[in-house]
Amino acid sequence: MPCAGSGSRAATAQPKQYEMLEGRPMVRHTLDALARVQRLARIVVVVSPGDATLGEPAPPCTVVDCGGATRAASVANGLQALRSLPGIGAVDDDWVLVHDAARCLITPEPVNRLIDACLDDAVGGLLAHRLADTLKAAQPTADAGAPARSLRTIERSDKWLAQTPQMFRLGLLERALREAGPQVTDEASAIEALGLQPLLVEGGAQNFKLTYPDDFALARAVLRSRSE
Ligand code: C5P
Repeated sequence: MPCAGSGSRAATAQPKQYEMLEGRPMVRHTLDALARVQRLARIVVVVSPGDATLGEPAPPCTVVDCGGATRAASVANGLQALRSLPGIGAVDDDWVLVHDAARCLITPEPVNRLIDACLDDAVGGLLAHRLADTLKAAQPTADAGAPARSLRTIERSDKWLAQTPQMFRLGLLERALREAGPQVTDEASAIEALGLQPLLVEGGAQNFKLTYPDDFALARAVLRSRSE
């Protein structure tokens, strides 16, 4: 679980993964949901160097402070930890699920659906959500403060929003990330660059990534509705 971002778009006082939601830091909600997925052997959380906020959570969770400058770098460092940490010793053919700490509304059910869909697949796949809205491309502008103007409408019938977890075999994923470089924003795009086609598994609208200030109010409302 990459958990080493600064959350600059969220406008929170601290990195967004530690923002309080219903009495607990966001990442605790994410961890609790993953800990309820019986088939996950270990959960490795990648935080920024020196970040001791999470302390030492209970097994099956381990925290490693080897976060990198980009999400892809944090993921690559986490994969290395899966290989080298005592008691894990993951190998090329092991399945790995990468999940954003900032998708704290995940529940075990879609994760299990992803695992079921991918276990016998040669490539792997990701949770994703079919695009419902009409999609617009904005007119490029040199002035960042100028109002955005719609240039054209993009065919939406074949579009999905990529979510996490994304599930691939360790060796394949490491090679894909190495070849794609540190700027890729998800694992599936690195796998696609190898010419492979990850499975798209419906993840549901609630599995959104908390990014902007508004997202936090929505996540609080969802968490409250689940505890009623
Ligand atoms: O920045 P973004 O919202 O795309 O981040 C997605 C996930 O990747 C978050 O859980 C964030 O903490 C993590 N991340 C990371 N290392 C970075 C940047 C983001 O672990 N350098």
